[in-house]
Amino acid sequence: MSEKKVLKKNSSGFCRAARFSALLPAVILVLSLCGCSAPGFSGSVSEDIPEDTSPVTQEVFAMDTHMTLTAYGDAAQDAVSEASDRLYRLDRDLSASDESSQIYALNHRLSDHVSGDTAAVLSASVRLAGLTENYFDISVYPLVCAWGFPTKEYRVPSGEEIGILLSHTGMDGISFDETTGTVTFADERMMIDTGAVAKGYASDVVAGIFREYGISSGLISLGGNICAFGSKTDGSDWNIAVQDPFRPSDPDAYAGIVSCSDTFLITSGSYQRYFTEDGKRYCHIIDPFTGYPADNGLMSVTVVSSSGTEGDALSTALYVMGLEKASEFWKNCDEADFEAVFVTDDRKVYVTEGIADSFQSSFGTPQVISRG
Ligand code: ADP
Ligand code: MG
Repeated sequence: MSEKKVLKKNSSGFCRAARFSALLPAVILVLSLCGCSAPGFSGSVSEDIPEDTSPVTQEVFAMDTHMTLTAYGDAAQDAVSEASDRLYRLDRDLSASDESSQIYALNHRLSDHVSGDTAAVLSASVRLAGLTENYFDISVYPLVCAWGFPTKEYRVPSGEEIGILLSHTGMDGISFDETTGTVTFADERMMIDTGAVAKGYASDVVAGIFREYGISSGLISLGGNICAFGSKTDGSDWNIAVQDPFRPSDPDAYAGIVSCSDTFLITSGSYQRYFTEDGKRYCHIIDPFTGYPADNGLMSVTVVSSSGTEGDALSTALYVMGLEKASEFWKNCDEADFEAVFVTDDRKVYVTEGIADSFQSSFGTPQVISRG
């Protein structure tokens, strides 16, 4: 298990290194915490965090991911504690494998009703599936299971098996009545999994809690889902690094830096959860149209958005689409306001034009995708 080092300031203004394990090496490195300034960061302590401003940092392991919550200000401890409790609850409630979850009950036909966070995530999922032309598709779960991702007992299913499973998937087979919370499946073998949107939703929830407590500066890092909450304590932008997907176990390797505030940066990629068989890599993101792991020339997609939920669904969908289709989607998408950073298999970086000025690439000059 790799370890990542974060430099924190203690109340006396001194800096100390806090080591924490990164079970899933952070897709996005939060360089602002260690005060690195692009380019050439080296883990030195930030000069721009005032001496009397100590962050409160809490680590949480939930949703199969190492999470770190950081907040500044008088209410930081309360905000971070409440947010941690909420994350543990969301982990349980949105899990497809936890027998007490509403998702498990739906999948095993123990209930056809959902409420609370599950209903909110389901409602968003149905909307975002429509928005992404079903590239984001929570009904791929039977396929995800057939490839062995939930149990980590990986296997390559036969073409025939995939064909059969495809007939038990598809968002058209799910109807969700938001007023009653009733879910109906068209097919007895259909199952859902909100794993591609749950962490994004959770980051929205944590950001909401931070807002309620009046926090103006913080970082919410839920695996590959980062929220640069507010701005740094001196009012400047956070610098968030996009992990170099070719060196996922090196926390200091990055494809580039995004300077931003009040923004979610959410990454999907093939470099963290995958298995290899006969020299071929199979990742955990499934193309809902073929039933096979997505393999469209991308190593990672980072979506920059004002919504964690939307950013998470979009990053998964764009990853499946591949660069060309994803670029077209970005150009024509009126219903969601987002930018994106793509890293391709051949080590090129592409950025949408809205973020071009705030992105510093470590992979040479990035190609800018523009609407013009
Ligand atoms: P991560 O969870 O690693 O951050 P994603 O947000 O891209 O990555 O979600 C991937 C997870 O979502 C998979 O583990 C699987 O459970 C599920 N999934 C796989 N393919 C799709 C898809 N096309 N649409 C929606 N969910 C998917
Ligand atoms: Mg996602």
